[in-house]
Parts: sequence; C-alpha cells; structure tokens
Amino acid sequence: MRSVSVFGATGSIGESTFDILMRQGGPDAYRVVALTGGRNVARLAAQARALKAEVAVIADDTLLPELKAALAGSGIAAAAGQNALLEAADRPADWIMSGIVGAAGLAPGFRALSHGGTLALANKESLVTAGPLLMAEARAHGARILPVDSEHSAVFQALVGEEMEAVEEITITASGGAFRDWPLDRLAHATVAEASTHPNWAMGQRITIDSASMFNKALELIETHEFFGIDPGRIGVLVHPESLVHALVGFRDGGVIGHLGAPDMRHAIGYALNWPERMHLPVNRLKLAEIGQLTFAAPDPARYPALRLAREVMAAGGLTGAVFNAAKEVALDAFIGGGIAFTAMANVVEEVLSRLSAAGTLGKAAQSLDMVLETDREARRVAVEMIETMQRT
Ligand code: NDP
Repeated sequence: MRSVSVFGATGSIGESTFDILMRQGGPDAYRVVALTGGRNVARLAAQARALKAEVAVIADDTLLPELKAALAGSGIAAAAGQNALLEAADRPADWIMSGIVGAAGLAPGFRALSHGGTLALANKESLVTAGPLLMAEARAHGARILPVDSEHSAVFQALVGEEMEAVEEITITASGGAFRDWPLDRLAHATVAEASTHPNWAMGQRITIDSASMFNKALELIETHEFFGIDPGRIGVLVHPESLVHALVGFRDGGVIGHLGAPDMRHAIGYALNWPERMHLPVNRLKLAEIGQLTFAAPDPARYPALRLAREVMAAGGLTGAVFNAAKEVALDAFIGGGIAFTAMANVVEEVLSRLSAAGTLGKAAQSLDMVLETDREARRVAVEMIETMQRT
C-alpha cells in the first residue's frame, strides 16, 4: 500500500488532493501518514478521520487543544507548531504533497526530500527561494520532485520521451487575471474583493490576487527556470484568457507540443499522484468545437511589472529569488490588509530588491537552507519598514 502525506491539506490544493485520494480508494488504498493545516482545525480533523491519518498537525500551536478535542477517540495523533510540521515531514512517505502556501512551505518540503520518495510540488515558492538547493537535496537522497503547478505539469507532460537539448523554448500561459481588461488608471483603486476573483480558476485567495498582478506568473517563470534548467531567455509568457492551453514546448525541429485541459487542478494533482500511469480523473473534458476559438496575446509590461522583475531576479540569481518572494508576500499581506494600493505591491518589491542588491551579496548562491531563511527574514524586515514609511508619507 502506498503511503502519502499532504502538507497544506486544508487549502485549495489540499482539498483537491483530498478529493482525489478519496475517489481513488481513500484509506483502503493509501496509508495516510500525515495531514497538516495552518489554522483550520475542523477541516483538518474531518480529513484526518476520513483518511484515517496517523498524525494531524496544525501550524498554529495555540490550536493544539482544539485539534486534540476534534480528534478525541479517533486514535489519530495531534501535534502543532513549526517543529511538529518538520517532524511530520520526517515520517517517511512514498508521496508527499507540498501544498502549503508561501515560503512557509519550504522547510517541510526540504525535510521530506531527505527521506527519498516523491514530492509533488505545488509550493512554487520553494523553487523560487531555494531552487538549486531543493533540486540538489532531491538528487542527494534519490527523491523525485514532480511539478503540480498546472503550467509545469503541462511542460513535464509535453516533455515525456523528449530530450531537454532538443527544446528551444518553453511558453507558459496566463489568464491575465481579474484586471486583464481594466483601464490601467483604475488599477491603483482595485479592491481586495475585486482582485480575489479569478476569471477561470478556483484557488486560494493569495494566488488569486497574485494572478491579477501576475506575481504568480512571475514566480512561475522562475519556477520554470529552476525546475527545467532552461535559460530565462528561452521562457515565454502568453496571455491566454481561456486558460485551456497551459503550456507549449517548442522544439528545434520547429514542432510545438502544447498541453490542453480544463482549468481544474485535480488534473495536475492526479497526474502527479498516479505518475507514470494515467488514471481516470473527474475533470471536465475539453469540447473544442463548443469553445470555437482560443486567443493569445503578449503580456502588457505596463500592466504586469512583476514579469520584468522576475526576469531581473533570474538574471541576478543566487538569493535574489528569496528576496523577491519575501517582499512579494509582505506586499500582498499589506494589500490584503488595506495598507497599500494594488499597484504599490510591485513598487515595494522593486524597492526591496534594489535596497538589498546594493550590498552586492544577493547574487551569491545559497549554501544552505538557513541562508535562504535568513535572507527571507531580512527581506521581510525591509519590506515592512518600507511599507510603514510609505504609509506615513
Ligand atoms: P490556500 O491558501 O488555499 O491553502 C494554503 C494551505 O497552507 C492551507 O492548508 C493553510 O492552512 C496552510 N498554511 C497557511 N499558512 C501556513 C503556515 N504559515 N504554516 C503552515 N501551513 C500554512 O493556498 P493554495 O492551496 O491556493 O496554494 C498552495 C500552494 O500551491 C501555493 O504555493 C500556491 O502558489 C500553489 N498553487 C496553487 C494552485 C491552486 O489552484 N490553488 C495552483 C498552482 C499552485 P489553513 O487554511 O488551515 O490556515
């Protein structure tokens, strides 16, 4: 029986993973080792009971009594806090979903890799902040990383049986997010509610807002570079409002292989769970005759400054990705909290990058996870300081 763990089980990716696991036999088909959540005790406990997990971990340690009460009589162990998350990652499993949002997902995923097995990576921030370290950790322990981001799963699928040296270009698509068709001068007044509505995908709030700003696509550009080891100059982004073509791989003989499918993360999650087999999955089938036409356009650099920043980050390399991600997370928190305008998020990130690059050390390769986490903390400190200054003036 395969053993599985799901980090971030209570989130959007986690719920889709739970759905697929249940459809594929649940506790009769899988030995479920660990499920983790951030604060949603009720959902975590319900999932743990349904999947007969060995341990359920809640990241917020003040919620441990509540989790214990919710699991009373089930025989499922309850734990809480950052160390408990790492201990859960120390429990070997054949397949681990890395579905925590943000840099918080890095350390547990990294730890899970040290026990071999397969890490299904939804947490793109891990590759953005510590790509080379993560890939090296997987190699060192004979672990495998399978992409779960829909674009990267699409590229991975298009590359089956192909050699990377035959690849000329990888193009990932973007819906354009909530504000694709807004006049540019309205963007500064966009509300959190408006930014939290995605035209095609149902996802967590943070990634949905990141789709509107294209910080999500910016992270994915870096993710593509780190995961597939392709030069940044050969990675493109296309705005594709229908979100049906997820990625295109262009080869040196002029052929292009595209991956199409309904915008439903259960495809990419199920593909990673069943890989290398393909099993029946409950996603809508594409009816192209009904859809009629697919549209594509180059992204507008004035609307989406995040894409330019991502290219600067890839050119600088080293620890720059950790700064980029941390500053983005703080700016996003500030936008969600009503502290800054939608358009100010890119300004904050650009300014933090420029301040921390001035020291001239960011381009150095990270030697350890601690270095990445230290850089993350420093970037957050500078970003918070900068936002406070912005708010005072
Ligand atoms: P959600 O916000 O829906 O869920 C995040 C999960 O992480 C929840 O289980 C949440 O717990 C948990 N969590 C939040 N903060 C912490 C923390 N500090 N420590 C531990 N756990 C925490 O996010 P998504 O599911 O949308 O995204 C998860 C990851 O997958 C992200 O990296 C995202 O970029 C990526 N991704 C998501 C896609 C999607 O369709 N949603 C598509 C492709 C990639 P709780 O809710 O209990 O507080």
